[in-house]
Amino acid sequence: MNPVKNIAVVAHDHCKGELLDFVECNLEVLSRHNLLATGTTGGLVEDLIRERSEGSRIEFKPVNRMKSGPLGGDQQLGAMISEGRIDVLIFFWDPMQPQPHDVDVKALLRLAVLYNIPTASNRSSAEFLISSPYFSGEYEIKPVDFSDYTQRKI
Ligand code: PGA
Repeated sequence: MNPVKNIAVVAHDHCKGELLDFVECNLEVLSRHNLLATGTTGGLVEDLIRERSEGSRIEFKPVNRMKSGPLGGDQQLGAMISEGRIDVLIFFWDPMQPQPHDVDVKALLRLAVLYNIPTASNRSSAEFLISSPYFSGEYEIKPVDFSDYTQRKI
């Protein structure tokens, strides 16, 4: 994994404030990476970074925004994980509210586990992840053996 990582950020509506606060507190580190996000989360994060980067040494880079989560954004991110195009997932999902796209949420989290992507689902885990030397350094993801599936004939 490259030192400059592709980091996907997603937050359900009641968790968006927490995610924005996390982004703001870690702006300098995050601005060195490439951010991807579901639609609404991405718009909010991009606005925040644009605002904070003005007149500061923080470089503004647009967030690569997918569709909104309920419209397929989680699935788009999941597909990118399966293609090796996302290195880290920070996903503050809401433990107290059912979502119209719960199945997509589950699928995204499943793919993050399947492809062994570092994943944070709450603020503390995200703080631990971003404080790791691997976050801005080299890291080799242990390859997962999918040969049972890639070579099966039935
Ligand atoms: P949103 O989607 O960023 O478009 O709100 C997040 C989600 O619900 O997965």
